[in-house]
Amino acid sequence: MILPKSNRLQPDQVAEITHIVEGFGCKIQPIVGAVRTIYAIVGDERDELMITRLEGLDYVERIDRIQSPFKLMDKRSDLATHRLTIGGVTLGEELFVIAGQCTIDPKNPEFFYETAHAVKEAGANALRGGVWKPRTNPYTFQGDTKSLEILMEASRRTGLPVDTEVMEESHIHLALEAGVGTLQVGARNALNYSLLRAIGKAIADRPNAVLLKRSIHMGPVNEFISAAEYIAAFGNPNVILCPRGTTPTLDGYRNHPDESITPLLKEKTWAPVVVDPSHSVGKAAYVPACALAAVAYGADGLCIEAHVKPSAGIGDDPKQALTPEALTKTIAQARALWNLLRS
Ligand code: PEP
Ligand code: MN
Repeated sequence: MILPKSNRLQPDQVAEITHIVEGFGCKIQPIVGAVRTIYAIVGDERDELMITRLEGLDYVERIDRIQSPFKLMDKRSDLATHRLTIGGVTLGEELFVIAGQCTIDPKNPEFFYETAHAVKEAGANALRGGVWKPRTNPYTFQGDTKSLEILMEASRRTGLPVDTEVMEESHIHLALEAGVGTLQVGARNALNYSLLRAIGKAIADRPNAVLLKRSIHMGPVNEFISAAEYIAAFGNPNVILCPRGTTPTLDGYRNHPDESITPLLKEKTWAPVVVDPSHSVGKAAYVPACALAAVAYGADGLCIEAHVKPSAGIGDDPKQALTPEALTKTIAQARALWNLLRS
């Protein structure tokens, strides 16, 4: 990581360091912060001669070397002070809540509009709604691009920023063009490195964020953070880690709830953690306890499925969506606990 003496390097300086690092098989990736731009050396940065040459440049303050598979997302990185603000909430400063339907029903948009209003009333900061759905059963509803219009209309009506899952490159571009702020990577694609790279490239120069679910298999902490690094390596570090339960499942739950991974993540990365209790447990009755447990474990936020009328929903909603009443209570309790733990 190159820290210049000034807030950012001049083009001729970037050209000079690019020339140096390319000679050692590396590349330079600017990470643009609000005030200062730092420059990640992407590649194997262990060559002493390369470091010495960079340190010899009079416009370079210092070179930070982090031997980590995720040097941008690493807690020791110069990005550790980077903060994400979504829906008026700076993650880490107050509990951030995304809520909404698992799946938008394109035949019944009114449900989604009502859910969006209810979610806002309940105190959520962002709205979720599945447009394209990864379904285990290939014969069930797979989502519909028409739902993207419904999602954006709900965003306009409520003023809430939105989150939706993208599963392929075409979805990324459609979602960004429509104005989706947060792209979700689902548990099934969490280790799909070409998708992660495509997202990283697409949002490199944009203020968008990514909600990266933990892979469905019980993978190690480093694997999860390294997946986030794939996105950040293109220049946009706005990645939120989202534990959502793993397999093998815990008897009776949909997955093995993994909100307890949060302190382990926080030991290694500065990335915010937003836990999804809905997919962790898979039943509406168990979701509030899992949400509170996540807050107790130090989560910065929650991603909760909710529906004005769960029984009329499609996708996961009939099983695991909270009603507006249950969501309101869960958010209030989660915020109270979050504040209590920090008082
Ligand atoms: C979802 O958020 O509706 C979803 C499919 O999530 P996951 O990828 O965690 O299963
Ligand atoms: Mn779902």
